[in-house]
Amino acid sequence: MKKVLHLFFVTFIVTTMSFISYGQDAKKTTLITNAKIFDGVNEKLIEGDILIENNLIKTIEASIKAPKGANIIDAQGKTVIPGLIDAHWHTTYAYTPAAVLFLNQGDMPEVAIRSMTGAEKTLLRGFTTVRDPGGNPFAIKKLIDSGEYPGHRILPSGPFMSPTSGHADYYGKTEVPRDKDYINYWERNMMAMTSDGVDEVRLRTRDILKYGATQIKITTGGGVASEFDPLDVSEYSVDEIKAVVEEANNYNTYVTSHVYTDRGVRTSIEAGVKCIEHGFFVTEETLKLMKEKGAWISLQPVFKEDMTWDNPLSQHKFEGIVEAIDKVFPLAKKVGVNIAVGKDHLFGPTTAIQQNEYVVRLGKWFTPFEALKIYTSENARLLEMSGPRHPYQEGPLGVVKEGAYADLVIVDGNPLENLSLIADPEKNFVVIMKDGKVYKNTIDK
Ligand SMILES: [Zn+2]
Repeated sequence: MKKVLHLFFVTFIVTTMSFISYGQDAKKTTLITNAKIFDGVNEKLIEGDILIENNLIKTIEASIKAPKGANIIDAQGKTVIPGLIDAHWHTTYAYTPAAVLFLNQGDMPEVAIRSMTGAEKTLLRGFTTVRDPGGNPFAIKKLIDSGEYPGHRILPSGPFMSPTSGHADYYGKTEVPRDKDYINYWERNMMAMTSDGVDEVRLRTRDILKYGATQIKITTGGGVASEFDPLDVSEYSVDEIKAVVEEANNYNTYVTSHVYTDRGVRTSIEAGVKCIEHGFFVTEETLKLMKEKGAWISLQPVFKEDMTWDNPLSQHKFEGIVEAIDKVFPLAKKVGVNIAVGKDHLFGPTTAIQQNEYVVRLGKWFTPFEALKIYTSENARLLEMSGPRHPYQEGPLGVVKEGAYADLVIVDGNPLENLSLIADPEKNFVVIMKDGKVYKNTIDK
């Protein structure tokens, strides 16, 4: 009897599962007609239809006959662009106020809830993928990827890592010498990590990779948000950086580093780091070295009005950075080094919309086409540096072409002529699709 019952349940489950998957398959063909397509790479728009099967773009042609049962979206001559990609977005810091994270006012469930709901908001602003260089978005990524909760794709670095006194050191000033047997709350929760010495940096890098990081983020120079590290300082010895790089390379991925000064950038690049976060004070000579080594600079178009810091030291550091930014963008463009751009939004649940404004700000140094190319196919090219650790391997991201992921935005208007359309996604992004699934469609309204 037991065996029969068991068999019954197995049959029941298998039948139900195949029914569910059949139901999903039948609904998963979408035809977008009458579109002007920016493919993420070429300036010239393509006019035609896009057929999407399941989560991938199957065909792009001048005219496609609708398959039976297909969901049809008439783009009405509006512009289809690839879903935007942010190269520097902290899923778990962006929507969490600083007081929650650093004054021991909050706990991890609060961070998780704020971040999960934030990820949906980010998606609904047209960002379908982010590279996350610091924090713990692993469970959020899992729930998004499984389709259980709406949100963007994530390539997580996990906790960003610095030495004691560095950018990730959130121990108290009086905790010196620090009791190495004690690990603070945010570190235990993989939000930040301090490690010192070649042996410990190897161990922690392995911990972070084991936890699911797609690339490793360290800090080799001072920061703005942190308390103990002036911007000019160098963090980590060359041997420590090389050890992290070796561990990441053994895992077939790369290391990205937060650093501002030219000296810090050069040391990092010479030690094998493949991407520099910020790097605003870099010289032309070092940018040329980066280009030679195929490295990337990941920049943020920060303006002075964006942030005010309670801590006067942080405010002073921030103002110096804003001045440097106006120089580094044209310089990097002139040298021809790989440029990625991201928001690096911190602690600002109400100001996260600036993520879209940042795309528009690139117009100060780039044509609308160049700006959109950076925010789509170029940022996607940076993600490719994760190699086999890249979690989305079925097709390319950041482009509209056959075989690519169906991550698309339909813009009411042509952003290659009017980049400022990107700043108001609520009004101008009339369709948002990720992984072939429509998350927003107001095109007929
Ligand atoms: Zn950051």
